[in-house]
Amino acid sequence: MNNNKSMGIYIHIPFCVKKCNYCDFLSFNSDEATMLSYINSLNNEIIANRQTEKTVATIFLGGGTPSILDPKHIYDILNTIYKYYHIEDNAEITIESNPGTLNISKLKDYKAFGINRLSIGLQSSIEAELKAIGRIHTCTQFLESYDAAIYAGFNNINIDIMSALPNQTIDSYKKTLETVIELNPTHISAYSLILEENTPLYDFINADNEHMLPDEDTEREMYYMTDRLLKQSGFHRYEISNYAKDGFECRHNLSYWEDADYLGMGLGASSYMDGARYKNTSCLEKYINHSSNPKDIIENVTPLSVKDKQEEFMILGLRKIKGVSISQFEKLFSKNIYSVYGDVIEKYISMDLLSINDDTLSLTSKGIDVSNTIFTDFLLED
Ligand code: SF4
Repeated sequence: MNNNKSMGIYIHIPFCVKKCNYCDFLSFNSDEATMLSYINSLNNEIIANRQTEKTVATIFLGGGTPSILDPKHIYDILNTIYKYYHIEDNAEITIESNPGTLNISKLKDYKAFGINRLSIGLQSSIEAELKAIGRIHTCTQFLESYDAAIYAGFNNINIDIMSALPNQTIDSYKKTLETVIELNPTHISAYSLILEENTPLYDFINADNEHMLPDEDTEREMYYMTDRLLKQSGFHRYEISNYAKDGFECRHNLSYWEDADYLGMGLGASSYMDGARYKNTSCLEKYINHSSNPKDIIENVTPLSVKDKQEEFMILGLRKIKGVSISQFEKLFSKNIYSVYGDVIEKYISMDLLSINDDTLSLTSKGIDVSNTIFTDFLLED
Protein backbone atom coordinates (compact mmCIF):
# COMPACT_ATOMS: atom_id res chain seq x y z
CA MET A 1 0.00 0.00 0.00
CA ASN A 2 2.98 2.27 -0.25
CA ASN A 3 1.53 4.77 -2.68
CA ASN A 4 0.09 8.18 -1.99
CA LYS A 5 -3.39 7.24 -3.16
CA SER A 6 -3.78 4.65 -0.43
CA MET A 7 -3.96 5.14 3.34
CA GLY A 8 -4.65 3.39 6.62
CA ILE A 9 -7.09 4.46 9.34
CA TYR A 10 -6.34 4.07 13.05
CA ILE A 11 -9.17 4.51 15.54
CA HIS A 12 -8.27 4.94 19.21
CA ILE A 13 -10.65 3.57 21.83
CA PRO A 14 -9.12 4.66 25.14
CA PHE A 15 -11.33 2.62 27.48
CA CYS A 16 -10.25 -0.39 29.53
CA VAL A 17 -11.96 -2.42 32.24
CA LYS A 18 -9.06 -1.65 34.55
CA LYS A 19 -5.60 -0.22 34.07
CA CYS A 20 -2.86 -2.88 33.88
CA ASN A 21 0.07 -2.31 36.26
CA TYR A 22 2.63 -1.76 33.50
CA CYS A 23 0.55 0.30 31.09
CA ASP A 24 1.40 3.86 30.08
CA PHE A 25 -0.88 3.93 27.03
CA LEU A 26 -3.62 6.53 26.81
CA SER A 27 -6.29 4.33 28.39
CA PHE A 28 -8.57 4.40 31.42
CA ASN A 29 -11.78 3.10 32.88
CA SER A 30 -14.90 5.14 32.17
CA ASP A 31 -18.67 5.22 32.60
CA GLU A 32 -21.27 4.45 29.93
CA ALA A 33 -22.27 8.10 29.43
CA THR A 34 -18.68 9.18 28.74
CA MET A 35 -18.19 6.30 26.33
CA LEU A 36 -21.33 7.33 24.49
CA SER A 37 -20.19 10.97 24.21
CA TYR A 38 -16.82 9.73 23.02
CA ILE A 39 -18.34 7.61 20.26
CA ASN A 40 -20.40 10.60 19.10
CA SER A 41 -17.29 12.76 19.00
CA LEU A 42 -15.34 10.07 17.21
CA ASN A 43 -18.02 9.78 14.56
CA ASN A 44 -17.94 13.57 14.14
CA GLU A 45 -14.19 13.50 13.70
CA ILE A 46 -14.40 10.66 11.18
CA ILE A 47 -16.94 12.63 9.13
CA ALA A 48 -15.01 15.89 9.40
CA ASN A 49 -11.82 14.23 8.15
CA ARG A 50 -13.46 12.45 5.21
CA GLN A 51 -11.16 11.77 2.28
CA THR A 52 -12.18 11.56 -1.32
CA GLU A 53 -8.73 11.42 -2.89
CA LYS A 54 -7.37 8.33 -1.16
CA THR A 55 -8.58 4.78 -0.76
CA VAL A 56 -8.39 2.95 2.57
CA ALA A 57 -6.28 -0.22 2.60
CA THR A 58 -6.40 -0.94 6.33
CA ILE A 59 -8.48 -0.01 9.36
CA PHE A 60 -7.20 -0.68 12.86
CA LEU A 61 -9.39 -0.31 15.94
CA GLY A 62 -6.86 -0.08 18.76
CA GLY A 63 -6.69 1.07 22.33
CA GLY A 64 -7.24 0.73 25.13
CA THR A 65 -9.63 -2.14 24.71
CA PRO A 66 -12.00 -1.62 21.76
CA SER A 67 -13.76 -4.90 22.63
CA ILE A 68 -15.02 -3.29 25.86
CA LEU A 69 -17.60 -1.39 23.77
CA ASP A 70 -21.06 -2.63 23.01
CA PRO A 71 -20.85 -4.02 19.44
CA LYS A 72 -23.41 -1.46 18.30
CA HIS A 73 -20.77 1.24 18.86
CA ILE A 74 -18.23 -0.68 16.80
CA TYR A 75 -20.89 -0.91 14.11
CA ASP A 76 -21.49 2.86 14.31
CA ILE A 77 -17.81 3.66 13.96
CA LEU A 78 -17.22 1.29 11.05
CA ASN A 79 -20.41 2.35 9.33
CA THR A 80 -19.34 5.98 9.46
CA ILE A 81 -15.98 5.05 7.98
CA TYR A 82 -17.62 2.93 5.26
CA LYS A 83 -19.94 5.79 4.42
CA TYR A 84 -17.39 8.59 4.15
CA TYR A 85 -14.26 6.83 2.87
CA HIS A 86 -13.51 4.61 -0.09
CA ILE A 87 -12.57 1.23 1.35
CA GLU A 88 -10.51 -1.06 -0.86
CA ASP A 89 -12.07 -4.44 -1.63
CA ASN A 90 -9.51 -6.51 0.22
CA ALA A 91 -8.99 -4.05 3.08
CA GLU A 92 -7.53 -5.47 6.30
CA ILE A 93 -9.82 -4.53 9.21
CA THR A 94 -8.45 -5.33 12.68
CA ILE A 95 -9.87 -5.00 16.16
CA GLU A 96 -7.77 -5.29 19.32
CA SER A 97 -9.40 -7.21 22.13
CA ASN A 98 -8.85 -8.60 25.57
CA PRO A 99 -9.98 -11.95 26.92
CA GLY A 100 -12.64 -11.22 29.50
CA THR A 101 -14.39 -8.78 27.16
CA LEU A 102 -15.17 -11.19 24.30
CA ASN A 103 -17.98 -13.67 23.67
CA ILE A 104 -19.30 -15.54 20.64
CA SER A 105 -22.10 -13.13 19.91
CA LYS A 106 -19.71 -10.13 19.95
CA LEU A 107 -17.26 -11.94 17.71
CA LYS A 108 -19.97 -12.91 15.24
CA ASP A 109 -21.05 -9.27 15.16
CA TYR A 110 -17.50 -8.20 14.40
CA LYS A 111 -17.39 -10.61 11.46
CA ALA A 112 -20.72 -9.34 10.22
CA PHE A 113 -19.41 -5.73 10.38
CA GLY A 114 -16.53 -6.65 8.05
CA ILE A 115 -13.76 -7.07 10.65
CA ASN A 116 -11.42 -9.74 9.26
CA ARG A 117 -8.51 -9.67 11.69
CA LEU A 118 -8.61 -10.12 15.46
CA SER A 119 -5.81 -9.27 17.85
CA ILE A 120 -6.02 -10.79 21.34
CA GLY A 121 -3.84 -9.65 24.25
CA LEU A 122 -2.81 -12.72 26.21
CA GLN A 123 0.65 -11.60 27.45
CA SER A 124 1.23 -14.77 29.51
CA SER A 125 -0.40 -18.15 29.97
CA ILE A 126 0.72 -18.30 33.62
CA GLU A 127 -1.88 -17.07 36.10
CA ALA A 128 0.64 -15.66 38.62
CA GLU A 129 2.33 -13.65 35.86
CA LEU A 130 -0.99 -12.27 34.62
CA LYS A 131 -1.80 -11.23 38.18
CA ALA A 132 1.58 -9.58 38.71
CA ILE A 133 1.05 -7.30 35.73
CA GLY A 134 -2.60 -6.62 36.62
CA ARG A 135 -4.35 -8.24 33.66
CA ILE A 136 -8.10 -8.70 34.07
CA HIS A 137 -8.25 -12.20 32.58
CA THR A 138 -7.07 -15.76 33.14
CA CYS A 139 -5.45 -18.03 30.57
CA THR A 140 -8.62 -20.13 30.54
CA GLN A 141 -10.62 -17.07 29.53
CA PHE A 142 -8.11 -16.43 26.78
CA LEU A 143 -8.47 -20.01 25.48
CA GLU A 144 -12.26 -19.64 25.53
CA SER A 145 -12.01 -16.36 23.63
CA TYR A 146 -9.70 -17.93 21.06
CA ASP A 147 -12.09 -20.88 20.52
CA ALA A 148 -15.01 -18.47 20.22
CA ALA A 149 -13.12 -16.45 17.60
CA ILE A 150 -12.47 -19.57 15.52
CA TYR A 151 -16.10 -20.57 15.92
CA ALA A 152 -17.20 -17.10 14.80
CA GLY A 153 -15.15 -17.58 11.63
CA PHE A 154 -11.95 -15.62 12.25
CA ASN A 155 -9.04 -17.07 10.28
CA ASN A 156 -6.57 -14.26 10.86
CA ILE A 157 -5.75 -13.91 14.56
CA ASN A 158 -2.84 -12.25 16.33
CA ILE A 159 -1.86 -13.10 19.89
CA ASP A 160 0.24 -10.66 21.95
CA ILE A 161 2.69 -12.14 24.42
CA MET A 162 5.32 -10.61 26.70
CA SER A 163 8.65 -11.69 28.12
CA ALA A 164 10.77 -10.33 30.98
CA LEU A 165 7.76 -10.24 33.33
CA PRO A 166 8.14 -10.29 37.12
CA ASN A 167 8.95 -13.81 38.37
CA GLN A 168 8.89 -15.16 34.82
CA THR A 169 11.35 -18.01 34.23
CA ILE A 170 12.68 -19.57 31.03
CA ASP A 171 10.35 -22.52 31.65
CA SER A 172 7.26 -20.44 32.34
CA TYR A 173 7.88 -18.29 29.26
CA LYS A 174 8.37 -21.44 27.21
CA LYS A 175 4.96 -22.59 28.43
CA THR A 176 3.39 -19.36 27.17
CA LEU A 177 5.10 -19.78 23.81
CA GLU A 178 3.98 -23.42 23.58
CA THR A 179 0.40 -22.49 24.50
CA VAL A 180 0.13 -19.98 21.67
CA ILE A 181 2.00 -22.12 19.15
CA GLU A 182 -0.39 -25.00 19.79
CA LEU A 183 -3.32 -22.79 18.83
CA ASN A 184 -1.69 -22.15 15.45
CA PRO A 185 -2.65 -18.48 15.05
CA THR A 186 -1.57 -16.56 11.95
CA HIS A 187 0.40 -13.90 13.82
CA ILE A 188 2.25 -13.48 17.12
CA SER A 189 3.57 -10.22 18.55
CA ALA A 190 6.23 -10.88 21.17
CA TYR A 191 7.43 -7.88 23.15
CA SER A 192 9.69 -7.54 26.16
CA LEU A 193 8.25 -5.74 29.15
CA ILE A 194 9.48 -2.16 29.32
CA LEU A 195 9.15 -0.65 32.76
CA GLU A 196 7.60 2.76 32.20
CA GLU A 197 7.86 5.51 34.79
CA ASN A 198 4.66 6.54 36.56
CA THR A 199 3.18 3.06 36.45
CA PRO A 200 2.43 0.97 39.56
CA LEU A 201 4.77 -1.77 38.34
CA TYR A 202 7.65 0.69 37.96
CA ASP A 203 7.15 1.92 41.53
CA PHE A 204 6.81 -1.61 42.85
CA ILE A 205 9.97 -2.90 41.15
CA ASN A 206 11.92 0.14 42.27
CA ALA A 207 10.84 -0.36 45.88
CA ASP A 208 13.61 -2.92 46.29
CA ASN A 209 11.95 -5.60 44.15
CA GLU A 210 14.35 -5.57 41.19
CA HIS A 211 15.17 -9.20 41.97
CA MET A 212 11.69 -10.14 40.73
CA LEU A 213 12.62 -9.30 37.15
CA PRO A 214 14.54 -11.84 35.07
CA ASP A 215 18.24 -10.94 34.86
CA GLU A 216 19.82 -9.84 31.58
CA ASP A 217 21.01 -13.34 30.59
CA THR A 218 17.58 -14.86 31.24
CA GLU A 219 15.93 -12.08 29.26
CA ARG A 220 18.30 -12.70 26.34
CA GLU A 221 17.59 -16.43 26.45
CA MET A 222 13.84 -15.69 26.33
CA TYR A 223 14.43 -13.44 23.36
CA TYR A 224 16.38 -16.12 21.46
CA MET A 225 13.88 -18.81 22.43
CA THR A 226 11.04 -16.74 20.95
CA ASP A 227 12.82 -16.61 17.61
CA ARG A 228 13.84 -20.27 17.70
CA LEU A 229 10.49 -21.79 18.69
CA LEU A 230 8.38 -19.57 16.47
CA LYS A 231 10.54 -20.20 13.43
CA GLN A 232 10.48 -23.95 14.10
CA SER A 233 6.69 -23.70 14.14
CA GLY A 234 6.33 -22.10 10.73
CA PHE A 235 6.29 -18.41 11.64
CA HIS A 236 8.63 -15.98 9.98
CA ARG A 237 9.89 -12.88 11.66
CA TYR A 238 9.06 -9.85 9.54
CA GLU A 239 9.69 -7.15 12.11
CA ILE A 240 11.82 -7.05 15.28
CA SER A 241 8.91 -8.13 17.53
CA ASN A 242 6.43 -9.56 15.02
CA TYR A 243 6.07 -13.03 13.55
CA ALA A 244 3.55 -14.27 11.00
CA LYS A 245 2.57 -17.22 8.89
CA ASP A 246 3.24 -16.50 5.19
CA GLY A 247 0.82 -13.91 3.85
CA PHE A 248 -0.47 -12.88 7.30
CA GLU A 249 1.87 -10.01 8.16
CA CYS A 250 -0.13 -7.13 9.65
CA ARG A 251 -0.56 -4.79 6.69
CA HIS A 252 -1.61 -1.92 8.94
CA ASN A 253 1.56 -2.05 11.01
CA LEU A 254 3.68 -2.51 7.90
CA SER A 255 2.31 0.77 6.62
CA TYR A 256 3.80 2.53 9.67
CA TRP A 257 7.22 1.15 8.77
CA GLU A 258 6.86 1.80 5.06
CA ASP A 259 6.23 5.52 5.09
CA ALA A 260 2.59 5.16 4.00
CA ASP A 261 -0.12 7.65 4.93
CA TYR A 262 -2.39 6.91 7.86
CA LEU A 263 -5.11 8.90 9.52
CA GLY A 264 -5.37 8.42 13.29
CA MET A 265 -8.64 9.45 14.88
CA GLY A 266 -9.73 9.48 18.48
CA LEU A 267 -8.13 10.72 21.68
CA GLY A 268 -4.37 11.24 21.39
CA ALA A 269 -4.26 9.56 17.97
CA SER A 270 -1.35 10.30 15.63
CA SER A 271 -1.52 10.66 11.86
CA TYR A 272 1.00 10.82 9.06
CA MET A 273 -0.52 12.42 5.99
CA ASP A 274 1.16 13.98 2.98
CA GLY A 275 4.54 14.40 4.63
CA ALA A 276 3.45 15.79 8.01
CA ARG A 277 2.77 14.26 11.41
CA TYR A 278 -0.29 15.29 13.39
CA LYS A 279 -1.29 14.50 16.94
CA ASN A 280 -4.71 14.85 18.52
CA THR A 281 -5.25 16.23 21.98
CA SER A 282 -4.98 13.78 24.88
CA CYS A 283 -7.53 15.78 26.89
CA LEU A 284 -10.80 13.84 26.93
CA GLU A 285 -12.92 16.89 27.71
CA LYS A 286 -11.45 18.88 24.85
CA TYR A 287 -11.81 15.94 22.50
CA ILE A 288 -15.44 15.39 23.35
CA ASN A 289 -16.29 19.08 23.01
CA HIS A 290 -14.41 19.90 19.82
CA SER A 291 -14.22 16.88 17.61
CA SER A 292 -16.50 18.24 14.90
CA ASN A 293 -13.69 20.61 14.00
CA PRO A 294 -10.55 18.49 13.61
CA LYS A 295 -8.34 21.60 13.63
CA ASP A 296 -9.39 22.29 17.23
CA ILE A 297 -8.40 18.89 18.50
CA ILE A 298 -5.01 18.69 16.79
CA GLU A 299 -2.41 19.34 19.45
CA ASN A 300 0.55 19.61 17.13
CA VAL A 301 1.49 19.42 13.49
CA THR A 302 5.06 18.57 12.51
CA PRO A 303 5.91 18.96 8.84
CA LEU A 304 8.82 16.62 8.17
CA SER A 305 12.00 18.00 6.60
CA VAL A 306 13.95 15.94 4.06
CA LYS A 307 16.37 15.03 6.87
CA ASP A 308 13.47 13.81 9.08
CA LYS A 309 12.12 11.73 6.22
CA GLN A 310 15.51 10.17 5.49
CA GLU A 311 15.92 9.25 9.15
CA GLU A 312 12.43 7.74 9.30
CA PHE A 313 12.96 5.86 6.06
CA MET A 314 16.04 4.19 7.55
CA ILE A 315 14.98 3.73 11.17
CA LEU A 316 11.43 2.54 10.53
CA GLY A 317 12.44 0.58 7.42
CA LEU A 318 15.25 -1.30 9.18
CA ARG A 319 12.75 -2.54 11.78
CA LYS A 320 11.49 -4.81 9.01
CA ILE A 321 13.57 -7.94 8.68
CA LYS A 322 13.63 -7.52 4.89
CA GLY A 323 15.20 -4.09 5.41
CA VAL A 324 15.14 -1.07 3.11
CA SER A 325 15.49 -0.73 -0.64
CA ILE A 326 18.59 1.19 -1.70
CA SER A 327 17.02 2.25 -5.01
CA GLN A 328 13.84 3.37 -3.23
CA PHE A 329 15.94 5.74 -1.09
CA GLU A 330 17.44 7.20 -4.24
CA LYS A 331 14.03 7.51 -5.90
CA LEU A 332 12.49 9.28 -2.90
CA PHE A 333 15.34 11.63 -2.08
CA SER A 334 17.18 11.97 -5.41
CA LYS A 335 20.36 11.09 -3.55
CA ASN A 336 22.52 8.01 -3.36
CA ILE A 337 22.08 6.34 0.05
CA TYR A 338 25.88 6.20 0.47
CA SER A 339 26.22 9.96 0.06
CA VAL A 340 24.02 10.36 3.16
CA TYR A 341 24.74 7.24 5.21
CA GLY A 342 27.98 5.85 3.67
CA ASP A 343 30.02 5.99 6.91
CA VAL A 344 27.40 4.43 9.15
CA ILE A 345 26.56 1.70 6.62
CA GLU A 346 30.23 0.85 6.18
CA LYS A 347 30.83 0.80 9.94
CA TYR A 348 28.00 -1.63 10.66
CA ILE A 349 28.72 -3.86 7.66
CA SER A 350 32.29 -4.25 8.91
CA MET A 351 30.88 -5.24 12.34
CA ASP A 352 28.51 -7.77 10.69
CA LEU A 353 25.48 -5.89 12.03
CA LEU A 354 24.18 -4.75 8.63
CA SER A 355 24.24 -6.61 5.35
CA ILE A 356 23.60 -5.78 1.71
CA ASN A 357 21.88 -8.15 -0.65
CA ASP A 358 21.35 -6.79 -4.17
CA ASP A 359 19.14 -3.74 -3.63
CA THR A 360 18.44 -4.40 0.05
CA LEU A 361 20.08 -3.15 3.20
CA SER A 362 19.01 -5.01 6.34
CA LEU A 363 20.04 -5.80 9.89
CA THR A 364 21.84 -9.11 10.41
CA SER A 365 20.62 -11.34 13.26
CA LYS A 366 23.40 -9.87 15.40
CA GLY A 367 22.25 -6.41 14.28
CA ILE A 368 18.64 -7.08 15.31
CA ASP A 369 19.87 -7.74 18.86
CA VAL A 370 21.39 -4.26 19.11
CA SER A 371 18.99 -2.47 16.78
CA ASN A 372 18.33 0.49 19.09
CA THR A 373 22.01 1.43 19.16
CA ILE A 374 22.25 1.12 15.39
CA PHE A 375 19.12 3.24 14.85
CA THR A 376 20.61 6.09 16.88
CA ASP A 377 23.46 6.25 14.39
CA PHE A 378 21.01 6.87 11.55
CA LEU A 379 20.00 10.21 13.08
CA LEU A 380 21.52 12.97 10.98
CA GLU A 381 23.14 16.12 12.29
CA ASP A 382 21.32 19.41 11.70
S1 SF4 B 1 -5.58 -3.62 28.44
FE1 SF4 B 1 -3.90 -2.73 27.25
S2 SF4 B 1 -4.39 -0.55 27.06
FE2 SF4 B 1 -5.72 -1.40 28.68
S3 SF4 B 1 -4.62 -0.98 30.54
FE3 SF4 B 1 -4.03 -3.04 29.90
S4 SF4 B 1 -2.17 -2.77 28.64
FE4 SF4 B 1 -3.15 -0.76 28.88
